[in-house]
Amino acid sequence: MNLVSAGLSDRGRVRPRNEDALLLRPERGLFAVADGMGGHVGGDIASRVAVDVLDELGPDGLDAEQLRSIFLAAHGAILRAVSADPTLSGMGTTMTALRVRPENDGCLIIHTGDSRAYRFRDPQLHQLTRDHTWVQDQVDAGLLQPEQARAHPYSSVLTSALGIVNGEPEIQVVDVPCDAGDTILLCTDGLTAGLADQDIARLLSREPDMDAAARAFIAAANDAGGSDNITVALVRLLASGQ
Ligand code: CA
Repeated sequence: MNLVSAGLSDRGRVRPRNEDALLLRPERGLFAVADGMGGHVGGDIASRVAVDVLDELGPDGLDAEQLRSIFLAAHGAILRAVSADPTLSGMGTTMTALRVRPENDGCLIIHTGDSRAYRFRDPQLHQLTRDHTWVQDQVDAGLLQPEQARAHPYSSVLTSALGIVNGEPEIQVVDVPCDAGDTILLCTDGLTAGLADQDIARLLSREPDMDAAARAFIAAANDAGGSDNITVALVRLLASGQ
């Protein structure tokens, strides 16, 4: 698989620390974003533990079951860190990972929490992940409109994350058909809090350079208030030989 990729993580304009984490391993076709939370100091530890476990356990040629077991290993590693240091109690993290298969035969997305993966096939932007949030449950039940969910006071209440649930986290696996020219975006909710889907699509359509697009996403989210940490990973698939 030929690809070009870029990624950036930014503290934003309000939060004192950046609790997001970013993993870019283009040589292995492996990418992830994670959004840590909770505890006095724990959020940045939880997100870092999760992407480090993925980095260490994620060899070439990962399949869906291996990715799922790596997510459960990350969940266990966070729980063990809390057992060893109770001041970390309550920490947890989202994680959304992309594995690009060789030979242009598609991508795997593995996900828990409210970070997101999108596929952009100009001009269509398609959200690949389902938010594991209370408001998404209400939308799915027909009790809230999607636009109400974005501004809802409970919009950040998660129903699944690594490290913070009783029992196993809910892990979504998506097998995504991908073609040369498609772009996959992974992002934490600091991006989607400030930018609607049409803003994301417009920016990707206008900016073919992945590094420039990543910088433009951070700038746009900060222009929208920068109320949260912002992390993006961008991967454009190329035809072989390109
Ligand atoms: Ca966040």
